[in-house]
Amino acid sequence: MAETKPTILDYTKEELQTLVKPAFRAKQIFGWIYNSFVDSFDEMQNIPKALREELSEKFILNPLKILHKEESADGTIKYLFELPDGKTIETVWLKMKDAQYDDEGKLLHEAKHTVCVSTQVGCKVGCSFCLTAKGGFTRDLTPGEIVAQVLTVKKDNQHASNRRVNIVYMGMGEPLDNLDSLTKAIKIFKDEDGLAISGKRQTVSTSGISTKIDKLGEADLGVHIAISLHAVDDDLRTELIPMNKAYNIQSIIDAVKRFPIDTRKRVMFEYLVIKNRNDDLQSAKKLVKLLSGIKAKVNLIYFNPYPGSDYQRPSREDMVAFQEYLVNHGLLCTIRDSKGIDISAACGQLKETKENEKKELV
Ligand code: SAH
Ligand code: SF4
Repeated sequence: MAETKPTILDYTKEELQTLVKPAFRAKQIFGWIYNSFVDSFDEMQNIPKALREELSEKFILNPLKILHKEESADGTIKYLFELPDGKTIETVWLKMKDAQYDDEGKLLHEAKHTVCVSTQVGCKVGCSFCLTAKGGFTRDLTPGEIVAQVLTVKKDNQHASNRRVNIVYMGMGEPLDNLDSLTKAIKIFKDEDGLAISGKRQTVSTSGISTKIDKLGEADLGVHIAISLHAVDDDLRTELIPMNKAYNIQSIIDAVKRFPIDTRKRVMFEYLVIKNRNDDLQSAKKLVKLLSGIKAKVNLIYFNPYPGSDYQRPSREDMVAFQEYLVNHGLLCTIRDSKGIDISAACGQLKETKENEKKELV
């Protein structure tokens, strides 16, 4: 039977302080969970037995079960997790930089990692190029189900709690469609008694719900945003992201201009490059114009085809020419290196492959 108890990871420290008595226990519990990575309430040694028992009656600890893991040659690991109700989500552990040693073998800096987390099972937005969209929307994740993704992959990779990771909300789902869980998860990650991952290290990627970009800004959490722009004219953008009818390009640009951004940082615009649709220099020219006046950086993403997808991957030459045009016109621009290209790369693809395998078995 599906587990019905909430996970203790759903709560911020302040909320726990009202749930457990005396309040200082909340800080200790946070330490056991986020610094010692305990698997059960029973391991929380300085918590009185009665309270440990009460906690295990009321809550579960980690709501995720690792169903499947795929490791790529570049160190990227894709996880397929099962939630208490049997639904599945994906999380990706990305190695951004290798550890570096000097000639004597002394460690100069440790490897750098980013966790790509999901915020929903499925997605309501329905982008025409996205595999997650094909399965429709099932449900929002709770704050704890978001938090557990980072906790679990850190633990699974023996990544010490005080070693920093970056978080990108770029897995399955539209984070701003689940704003309450998202803001709570961001706060739990930031807590100094927990993982202490500052807002600066967290990037929320959105398909551009302008009104909710404003709301996220008002919450003043210090996080970065990345905008999935993908097109420079509204017709194509509406084909790719139907919601663009309600929140068009200009409304997104206006919301970005209102968003509180660290003065040393830039807003990231993701541009999915699709062969013969938006990979021409005319589009690059329009993009330069559109982003003028914004401290922006552009991340070009190769469209990643999957069986049955309507679009094609652009050529490397067109991608590089597009990038050069932007750079020559003063825009910072990178091409996303396809981490984990040898495993199911784009979000939603591992889940899809596994579910098809399951269907084939039945
Ligand atoms: N819903 C949010 C965050 C999750 S999607 C958003 O749309 O921004 C994360 C990123 O994956 C988005 O930029 C999305 O455009 C990209 N993506 C989706 N399907 C893709 C595919 N088939 N190939 C390459 N990138 C894809
Ligand atoms: Fe949802 Fe993002 Fe996929 Fe669009 S690209 S369907 S917003 S997950």
